[in-house]
Amino acid sequence: MNILQRCEEIRAELLLQLPSKFHSDLRAIQFEVSKTMTVCAGKAWPRKKLVRISGTIFRDSRNAHRSEAQLDDTIRHEVAHVIVGPGHGHDWVWQDCARACGARPEKCHNMAVTRRVIKRRQMAECERCNAVFPVTDRKARRIRSSFIGLLVHTACGGSVRARDMTDEERVAQIKRELQR
Ligand SMILES: [Zn+2]
Ligand SMILES: [Zn+2]
Repeated sequence: MNILQRCEEIRAELLLQLPSKFHSDLRAIQFEVSKTMTVCAGKAWPRKKLVRISGTIFRDSRNAHRSEAQLDDTIRHEVAHVIVGPGHGHDWVWQDCARACGARPEKCHNMAVTRRVIKRRQMAECERCNAVFPVTDRKARRIRSSFIGLLVHTACGGSVRARDMTDEERVAQIKRELQR
């Protein structure tokens, strides 16, 4: 989905729906897509009139179940933060505005945890001490492409190999990442 295009569609829609006193703030909002924001779906800087949406969360194919409805809700939520201005947090003023903008009047933090991106999908295993630890795809690729496909386990000096996660390990890993 094109995130910035959706931001502009929502801006245009709200310019027709909201009272004119909000229009200058609405027009001033700068929308950005962040590649590094992985914990929060969106974030607003009311003073700078800046709204940043997590591209990592909404574009990642592993998060395909994150629907367009959730993207819309996130955009409207952050727009409401800019319109009410700094110092409101999620108080009743913001909640009124969030409703007017078509967002659920709830804190973003509720969504953040379930929207965490699962990053570690491979396992590294030490042949000497049998230690097993999850690694990112990138790290696993580095292990495989290193000299004879091994890395040295710093704790024991043994050789570390990378392998795919088993289904059981994968389920356990997803649970751990969601708890963090
Ligand atoms: Zn918020
Ligand atoms: Zn070891």
